[in-house]
Amino acid sequence: LLEMKHVKKSFDKSGVLKDISLKVREGQVVSIIGPSGSGKSTLLRCATLLEKMDAGELIYLGEKAAWEQDDKKGQKRCVYAPKDKLKQIRSYFGLVFQSFNLFPHYSVMKNIIDAPVCVNHVSKNEAKERAKKLLAQLGLSDKENAYPCQLSGGQQQRVSIARALALQPKILFFDEPTSALDPELTAEVLKVIRQLAQNHMTMIIVTHEMQFAKEVSDHIVFMEQGVIVEEGTPDELFSSENARVREFIGKVS
Ligand code: ATP
Ligand code: MG
Repeated sequence: LLEMKHVKKSFDKSGVLKDISLKVREGQVVSIIGPSGSGKSTLLRCATLLEKMDAGELIYLGEKAAWEQDDKKGQKRCVYAPKDKLKQIRSYFGLVFQSFNLFPHYSVMKNIIDAPVCVNHVSKNEAKERAKKLLAQLGLSDKENAYPCQLSGGQQQRVSIARALALQPKILFFDEPTSALDPELTAEVLKVIRQLAQNHMTMIIVTHEMQFAKEVSDHIVFMEQGVIVEEGTPDELFSSENARVREFIGKVS
């Protein structure tokens, strides 16, 4: 579904991503772990076209979103697909952030149906039907008329998951979806993500929840200082011989 090849990204000349390659197949759950500042969010932002890569390739469903080309001086440059193509590629994925990013002046229902209706031109009735199903699935049926400020953090995060799912993405990205939540609310959000995994939703999850990553992932990537230090199945990673990986997993789990 998604392939990133030799991705590089610097801010002010300091390399944040140094030659990262990553493949995500349909139905796979891939977790990205690693210390603060290792480039996890930047990688997610590059994958979701929120940040431009300096070098490398980005491919969704075999379609190139970005690739390398020689410029007039013969230097490699990263070029992006035309706007229409990128628009189409954006429809393949959904995003859930640490801070829930709901519209405060919209009800839960309106938050969820806004993009399907306004961007994807789904009829309002159909969008509402779908939203109701999603809310039921996420245990929020009684909240459709509530406003974000009337909800707990965990409920808000579940609404933002519903909002992402309403666009029927093929792949869902999470950037530390529970780090703003207390343990109890974290558990309810993780439960929802676990359900999605059981339904074979393809997901890339940046998380500090080691036990959760171990349990839900098909593949875990450990990043440090902009490089993938180690990757593999949860069993492989959790029995790693690499001192840094062991230390990190021991520290946070
Ligand atoms: P955390 O676990 O704390 O969320 P992270 O692994 O997500 O960390 P990133 O947010 O990707 O790390 O940041 C990696 C590095 O890139 C950091 O040193 C950060 O300061 C730098 N960085 C990220 N975004 C920008 C930006 N827009 N401008 C300049 N530097 C940035
Ligand atoms: Mg981050």
